Amino acid sequence: MQSTMQDVPLTLGFLLRHGLANFGKSKVVTCTGEGTRETTFREVGEQAAQLANGLAGMGIRDGDRVATFQWNNAEHLVSYLAIPGMGAVLHTLNVRLFTEQLVYVANHAEDRVIIVDGSIVALLAKALPEMKTVEHVLVHGGDGAELQGMGPTISRYEDVVGSQPTTFDWRTDLDERSAAAMCYTSGTTGNPKGVVYSHRSVYLHSMAACMGSAFGVGEQDRVLPVVPMFHANAWGLAYAAWMAGADMIMPDRYLQAEYLCPLMTNERPTIVAGVPTVWSAVLRYAVENNVDVSFLRTVICGGSAVPLSLMKGFQEQLGVRVVQAWGMTETSPLAAIAHAPAGVTGEEEWTYRARTGRVFAGVECRIVDDAGAELPADGEAVGEFEVRGPWVTASYYQGDDPERFSDDGWLRTGDVGTLDDMGFMQITDRSKDVIKSGGEWISSVDLENTLMDAEGVLEAAVIAVPDDRWSERPLAAVVREAGSQITAEQLRDKLSAHLARWQLPERWTFIDEVPKTSVGKFDKKVLRKQYADGDLDVQELAPPPS
Ligand code: ADP
Repeated sequence: MQSTMQDVPLTLGFLLRHGLANFGKSKVVTCTGEGTRETTFREVGEQAAQLANGLAGMGIRDGDRVATFQWNNAEHLVSYLAIPGMGAVLHTLNVRLFTEQLVYVANHAEDRVIIVDGSIVALLAKALPEMKTVEHVLVHGGDGAELQGMGPTISRYEDVVGSQPTTFDWRTDLDERSAAAMCYTSGTTGNPKGVVYSHRSVYLHSMAACMGSAFGVGEQDRVLPVVPMFHANAWGLAYAAWMAGADMIMPDRYLQAEYLCPLMTNERPTIVAGVPTVWSAVLRYAVENNVDVSFLRTVICGGSAVPLSLMKGFQEQLGVRVVQAWGMTETSPLAAIAHAPAGVTGEEEWTYRARTGRVFAGVECRIVDDAGAELPADGEAVGEFEVRGPWVTASYYQGDDPERFSDDGWLRTGDVGTLDDMGFMQITDRSKDVIKSGGEWISSVDLENTLMDAEGVLEAAVIAVPDDRWSERPLAAVVREAGSQITAEQLRDKLSAHLARWQLPERWTFIDEVPKTSVGKFDKKVLRKQYADGDLDVQELAPPPS
């Protein structure tokens, strides 16, 4: 029996029209470094129509890739809406990629047009000559003189877009399964791989982000995504905010705590989102400078494991709730959120909130062993997480890396850990970061979290290094807080209260900063190379007294 329901495709044109029709007065505030500039959803919608008309005039048609090389600002939101809304495909380029990787992804995606922020034209200039399919570059806020003569036509954004009509017949007729946007994984191993989101997947993911059991985004909210719009679509927050009519506070390129804190004080966001390194800097700055951020309802934190000390620091020193979430570019990204179960309070609540996340509606999760056999969800068995769902990718663009998908169509996440019978995931490692010592796994996430809990420690990353006897052993790379003299012995003592003796690292190094990836995560690949090249000053402790 068929239903009687209307078969309206879930498109971004449909989403765009909703925000425009109902929340025209909602605001988009962009940081300028010295202050802010403000616009409304109505104006953003009009500018999106102008951009769509401009792109259509340049010959952009359904399915053509239009790339953005932009910060989190009102103009990037215009691109987010206009490009898929007209039937083209939004490709967000990561402005922090190395030149070769930028060239690789633009060629792989076959971008026809790039919209670039005037402040980063010089970065694009290094890559543009090698980008084979780009025909046109639109420079927002600048003339792009540095780009002239490289092949593509270079225009001022305002010249192409500024005088276009402010209405557009947004495409609500598209096949909801057609491509709306694409994003490349940041390529911590090998070349970046492309994930192509459909209109349907983005629409459903936006609804999920708005759910009370996720972030509960509503019109009363003001959403500040610190996570870049080129990193897994700013975790879906731009579309979720547009859908819900929530104001958006955009940090532009001003991502340091000394900008974020005043921006927050002035604009009073309720929901903010970013990776742990951003929030630990904000916590330090806010405490040192007595900044009141109690208006924040939720700090969404993910992208890498969130140290308990960071969550408790926010709660106890700033009165603000940090919520850990888990996901990947491949999962749109939201797949799990660590809200404690109903009725759980006090210390027990922390044991849930410190976990990686609880799988939420729309995503299914299982753990499997090395041979792909499913393991019990008993909170004990350790295996690789596999996920599936309507906003989880079924393949990479152009069929890259097919072995990342199981025979029955689940995504192999490359994350390893436990799953319990309430859907709580605990990641112990990424599979490429696991430390296998004498046949047993040592969790780098556990070691790092315990170390970052210690007084005097700013950052800590633990990597596996070769060992003659145990095959691999952990090496702890620690960044001390300014003025701290904490020693490796003291840190090992601290660890010994939480971990088994054989899990305690004997190799230690104190460094100035943990190397970071283009999206601000610890880059263990670089640390491993520094170790292999003998660039780290490693201290080896004698075994602890038993
Ligand atoms: P990249 O793979 O280049 O880092 P992604 O942003 O897609 O790009 O990263 C997804 C990965 O980030 C996950 O597979 C997982 O390893 C890690 N991750 C995300 N959120 C968490 C979390 N809350 N705890 C631990 N790891 C996380």
